[in-house]
Amino acid sequence: MTSYSDIRKSIEARKEFCASLVHTLRNEIVARPGLNAFVELFDDTLDVDAQTADTRSVAGNARGLEGMLVGIKDNILIRGRECTAASRMLKGHRAAYDATVVRRLREAGAVIAGRLNMDEFAMGSSGETSVYGPTQNPAAEGRIPGGSSSGSAAAVAAGLLHAALGSDTGGSVRQPAACTGTIGIKPTYGRVSRSGLISFASSCDQIGVIAGTAEDAARVLHCISGHDTADATSSADPVTAYVSAVGKGVQGLRIGIIRECLPDELPAAQHEAIQRSAEVLTSAGATVDEILLPLTDLLYPVYAVIANAEAASNLSRYNGMRYGHACNDEEEFHTAVMRNRSEGFGREVKRRIMIGTYVLSAGYRQQWFEHAARLRRRIRDAYRQALSEVDLLLLPVMPGPPAPLGELMEDPLRMYRSDMYTVAANLTGLPAISVPAGRDGEGLPLAVQFMASAFREDLLFASAGVLEGAMQ
Ligand code: GLN
Repeated sequence: MTSYSDIRKSIEARKEFCASLVHTLRNEIVARPGLNAFVELFDDTLDVDAQTADTRSVAGNARGLEGMLVGIKDNILIRGRECTAASRMLKGHRAAYDATVVRRLREAGAVIAGRLNMDEFAMGSSGETSVYGPTQNPAAEGRIPGGSSSGSAAAVAAGLLHAALGSDTGGSVRQPAACTGTIGIKPTYGRVSRSGLISFASSCDQIGVIAGTAEDAARVLHCISGHDTADATSSADPVTAYVSAVGKGVQGLRIGIIRECLPDELPAAQHEAIQRSAEVLTSAGATVDEILLPLTDLLYPVYAVIANAEAASNLSRYNGMRYGHACNDEEEFHTAVMRNRSEGFGREVKRRIMIGTYVLSAGYRQQWFEHAARLRRRIRDAYRQALSEVDLLLLPVMPGPPAPLGELMEDPLRMYRSDMYTVAANLTGLPAISVPAGRDGEGLPLAVQFMASAFREDLLFASAGVLEGAMQ
């Protein structure tokens, strides 16, 4: 699919284009029934929205994202539409309001094309825990598309959409981007409003963007960023110019490769991807050095305790009384709640609730949750310190290529290991981006990750722009 940034030139020349994009989208969805990226296509509004976009473009009134086709992960509210977090628990639940990000996209003229598949309640790294069944990877046949924003990445990689929103609690925007050869950015905690996002682990959750190019991702992130009175954790810091940052280059930037993130057991192709990226960045004027940040082994365990504790607490609201799956034929409150939750949640979600409840329970709380919270502060301080010495960190996104479909569901510990390089950004709140870096010997997509200081998304876009230009 032609990137939105390229199409933008036609829009500015007052040409119609959106109606034909919508036509192609419908045909493609019919032609690829197995992809399973969409859980709902908004057939009833697509044509009217496309018409509006075309009319405004022709009249010379195009707004920032006029006619851009965007999809929304099924854990972000769209007023009047079902929003299920890909869980039986929320089937039939209709959103009472638009998430702030959705409202901002609409106001900028984007066409909201539909709801996208995901791991249940955003818990998973493979897109396979969804009640709607697994999503395929259009960039690697028979492999997982990554998770949990599986549908977002697959729809963009298949050329169905210009961009999609995902959520990233421990890597769920960056991992699927890495698996599908797309760009995925998780902004700084507080940069994008979480109002209207179904919570997983509130201190780690951020809405992010997946797009085919860095510039398209920058356009969308710019539109959805900024302070929101509906989210007390959203930041009032001014939003910087992301789109122009993409072409800014990396001249004079200091980039640190975290040595601990490149163990011998990492596949050779991943070592080479980091190496090649370092060379490209160096020839573009950056200085690249190895640095030590010896906390890598702590990251996933700390994340597992904190994220699951917050998840257990957030998900306690789903008992079938106000909302959520209700069996309706149990009289007694406790047995009804027990049955609603047993039937409504899938295996992975139940596993998280059990771990989270355990680490918060009387007698264990200090040993687990409070200990993890202290370690989290140490991790945050260490990353801040590292990022006071360099401008960007360069590291892998995942410890291996996208797994064959089905394998990770049999081996949860292996699935959890795929989060080892992505959770640092969530524990620290720092922004991070996944950028495609070619393919390995088997033709599977490779990617690298950059992390920057808080609110320096511009640096992430600048480095992504340089790699994108060189790796094509
Ligand atoms: N894969 C991670 C998990 O399952 C992260 C998920 C996410 O970012 N939503 O916890």
